[in-house]
Amino acid sequence: MDKFLTKNKVKDRSKCAVNVSAKNRARSMPQVLHEDDGILFCSICNVSIDHTCKSTIDNHLKSKSHLKRKHEIDSEQSTKKSLASGSAAKQSRVEVITDWIKACTVADIPLEKSDNPALREFFHKHVKNGGAIPQSSQLRDSYFSDVYENERTLVKQKTGHHC
Ligand SMILES: [Zn+2]
Repeated sequence: MDKFLTKNKVKDRSKCAVNVSAKNRARSMPQVLHEDDGILFCSICNVSIDHTCKSTIDNHLKSKSHLKRKHEIDSEQSTKKSLASGSAAKQSRVEVITDWIKACTVADIPLEKSDNPALREFFHKHVKNGGAIPQSSQLRDSYFSDVYENERTLVKQKTGHHC
């Protein structure tokens, strides 16, 4: 038993190196560690770590609190990414809908024609994001007033009328 303990102690001490600077430790793992004023920090948790023992650093990187924080940051970044691409996709869907309403209005096509099966098939097959064009009732309820307001503002700007 005594032998075992001594062995362990020696092993631990060999991992500690007083002559290694915090800067060097930080340089070995630049994604997670950084050095400030001679003190080693975990960039993810923003806590100081004793840099002389490699095992202390390893233990921190394996600790629950560190892994939890790391997981939080990872999922935050992926949420941001999917939100950004999601909003771009939504914008192009809204664009095809509002442009369709504009075209109908200008060409005197009743919005009800959007429900025509042949036209819907054409949208799906040949129009990019055409599947996003909803039934006429939803077009009127959700989009028509927006398009109408936008057009009215444009007309007002063009003609210089203020009413
Ligand atoms: Zn950490």
